Amino acid sequence: MNRRDFFRLASMAGIGASAISWSRLAGAATPPQLGTVPTNTGISGRVVVIGGGMGGATVAKYLRLWGGTGVSVTLVERDTAYTSNILSNLVLNGQRTITSLQYGYTNLASRYGVRLVKGEVMAIDPVGHSVSLADGSKLPYDRLIIAPGVDFDTIAGLESPTAQAKVPHAWKAGAQTTQLRNMLLGMQPGGVFAMTIPAKPYRCPPGPYERACVVADWLKKNRAGAKVIVLDANPGIIAEPLAFTNAFDVVHKGVIEYHPGVTINSIDATTMSLNTSLGNLKANVINAIPPHKAGKVVVANGLANAGGRWAGVDVLTYQSTAAPGIHIIGDASATTQPKAGHIANQEAKICADAVIRLLAGRSPDPAPITNSACYSPITADTASWLTAVFAYDPVSATMQPVPGAAGEAAGRSTENYKEMNRWFNTLMEDSFA
Ligand SMILES: Cc1cc2nc3c(=O)[nH]c(=O)nc-3n(C[C@H](O)[C@H](O)[C@H](O)COP(=O)(O)OP(=O)(O)OC[C@H]3O[C@@H](n4cnc5c(N)ncnc54)[C@H](O)[C@@H]3O)c2cc1C
Repeated sequence: MNRRDFFRLASMAGIGASAISWSRLAGAATPPQLGTVPTNTGISGRVVVIGGGMGGATVAKYLRLWGGTGVSVTLVERDTAYTSNILSNLVLNGQRTITSLQYGYTNLASRYGVRLVKGEVMAIDPVGHSVSLADGSKLPYDRLIIAPGVDFDTIAGLESPTAQAKVPHAWKAGAQTTQLRNMLLGMQPGGVFAMTIPAKPYRCPPGPYERACVVADWLKKNRAGAKVIVLDANPGIIAEPLAFTNAFDVVHKGVIEYHPGVTINSIDATTMSLNTSLGNLKANVINAIPPHKAGKVVVANGLANAGGRWAGVDVLTYQSTAAPGIHIIGDASATTQPKAGHIANQEAKICADAVIRLLAGRSPDPAPITNSACYSPITADTASWLTAVFAYDPVSATMQPVPGAAGEAAGRSTENYKEMNRWFNTLMEDSFA
């Protein structure tokens, strides 16, 4: 089996512990076919899921697939469709549109019987076991799963909506991504595109470096003499260092200027200038990615007990270490795994399996395994990749990289670029189809 087949099968089968354990739990001779919600598991309970992104959509689907019709699953999502952040950097060079990255929720309802509620959860009552929505309605639960993604700090100088509109982060794919594309189109030859990278942890460790490459590649072909200036708060490139060092120093030499260890003091959206630890810098386009924290519903409800920014969880169940009966998956949780869509999908499966076991009065799987793959476009037709596998370490009670299982592409290639699209489609199908 080659690497591509492995990832496709791993993603389809829900790799490792969680996929195998359904049959152990339900006592079934063979697990159900994907798409069939079993009626005979004998397990029942009400689960509310907040957030229909990579983590929330996946957990809702697999709770029904593995838990059966007795497990009622209500998914609360504020948007009508999900917009994938993954591949959204390709909107910037015109290879993708935002619409091509959108995924609806009808499959979750029609194929798996997930109940959809469009709305925003504001408050959680961990004692009374209910959530309150912005419209005043309440939903009761036996187990609550929260997957709200991230929110951002405000960079000094960008407090007003007017300033924010001039300096988009485009780190939640949507209107800002299209706006950033339009700002690129408006640049003149010889212009400056400045981007800032926050200190880790942030979602998608390779994402900002990938963005620098995609933008540089487009500028090189369309706006001669233009530059991308990357101001990184981290001491160096934090993901795929081989691929991105080569991309910055060789492939995009003379276009990308990379500066590590930079503090952004403030940004002035009127003069389009950045006040930084390197001095003042003016740019035609500023793409400032602010520091991240867990989605608001986690912070506002006292669940961000890891440094006041992220949700502490037990990685056997993703149950909050602040409130029993509440599970937090995806970017909002504090784990040793990267904040990535593929990992959110994997955490969702471990969590779905654990919640079903808990509803059945059983213990969670003691040895979960997760995997992650990430492809990064370096130009409009080449990409590199990164993989990792994590296993539960009972001594530290954390997920730790499996030695020898991680890898980085030897170099960028057009074959990697094609695989990237296959990997993306498989992952999105696994979460939304
Ligand atoms: C430019 C970019 C490129 C990326 N590329 C990759 C990649 O190549 N590979 C990869 O694995 N990852 C990638 N990522 C990271 C990936 O997108 C995130 O890690 C992933 O989306 C996290 O999933 P999540 O479920 O935690 O949050 P999200 O996918 O952000 O979903 C959160 C959902 O919750 C909803 N929500 C939030 N609060 C509430 C509330 N109170 N009530 C109702 N609904 C609510 C939101 O509307 C949203 O739909 C990338 C990210 C970016 C920005």
